[in-house]
Amino acid sequence: MSRVYNFSAGPAVLPEEVLREAAEEMLDYQGTGMSVMEMSHRSKAFENILNEAEQDLRELMRIPENYKVLFMQGGAHLQFAAIPMNLMKNRVADYIITGQWAKKAFKEAQIYGKANAIASSEDETFSYIPDCSDLPVSPDADYVYICENNTIYGTKFHTLPNTKGKILVSDVSSCFLSEPVDVSKYGLLYGGVQKNIGPAGMAIVIIREDLITEDTLPCTPTYMKYKIHADANSLYNTPNCYCIYMCGKVFKWLKKQGGLGVMKGRNEEKAAVLYDFLDGSRLFHGTVRKEDRSLMNVPFVTGDKELDAKFVKEAESAGFVNLKGHRSVGGMRASIYNAMPLEGVKALVEFMKKFEEEN
Ligand SMILES: *Cc1c(COP(=O)(O)O)cnc(C)c1O
Repeated sequence: MSRVYNFSAGPAVLPEEVLREAAEEMLDYQGTGMSVMEMSHRSKAFENILNEAEQDLRELMRIPENYKVLFMQGGAHLQFAAIPMNLMKNRVADYIITGQWAKKAFKEAQIYGKANAIASSEDETFSYIPDCSDLPVSPDADYVYICENNTIYGTKFHTLPNTKGKILVSDVSSCFLSEPVDVSKYGLLYGGVQKNIGPAGMAIVIIREDLITEDTLPCTPTYMKYKIHADANSLYNTPNCYCIYMCGKVFKWLKKQGGLGVMKGRNEEKAAVLYDFLDGSRLFHGTVRKEDRSLMNVPFVTGDKELDAKFVKEAESAGFVNLKGHRSVGGMRASIYNAMPLEGVKALVEFMKKFEEEN
């Protein structure tokens, strides 16, 4: 067996230790004689898995008591609709468009109410984060929406927008658990888990309790109501049991590493190795404004499409996989999530140096 360095943007690399543990427990989870995949979601064993996962996440993120944690299916996309359905009381919301994911959420919200794009960086192919210190926030906006880390373009909000008192809603899919956050600054934050936490097919929603009401848009399907899931402790219907189990293992792994402060330090160290190289390279260069750079997703190009393709191909043969950039941007992208070790990034940079010398 040989493992590659996997730079995929998602589904993405998971801690090897976690995968090994899951493999060991595959046929017999802690003496139950069955796999977690085979057990009832109402069983004591699964109830413990779910409760521990929530508790560990609360500890890691220091989630205040007045916030609920919901494990929902449908990934991030289902939340593009669930958010307006649950939060658009005035049927007005403001969106900051910093990439394709924000744009998709914005378009979805337009189905349900008046969604306004109050800022955008589309004029420069989303290569920066707009100044959000004094935006024309709508007086009757139910919330202001951002995509905090732009997976495709490699930018991140290093300062949250001034929402002028409105609720902040944030898609944190690709920066989830990469550093400490102050949950109390958000009304709702959520993310698909397949970028930095676990297998695909689930979203974690962290929402302030007072925003969970019966007062949803009339068209809201029962499954999409936050109240249904909050009241049922994420067991309204059969949840994605195995995914919750895997996420729970990753939470424990993160706690063992020392928590989110430690992860932030490591992520900064990893990102610096790559960005420092890019800044000094003759051949490769980064594609986004330096002050808006993401710690998680690092896009870069040579400026020559054929050379980019050659690099991706040779990198793959050398065991550095999934480095091809998103189809909308081209070039390369290295996603260096929590589970990517520093050695992986250093080895990639060594490979890039060699490629530069040869080309
Ligand atoms: C991947 C991604 C999504 C989409 O996630 P799905 O689970 O496929 O719906 C949304 N937002 C961001 C920031 C992402 O990185």
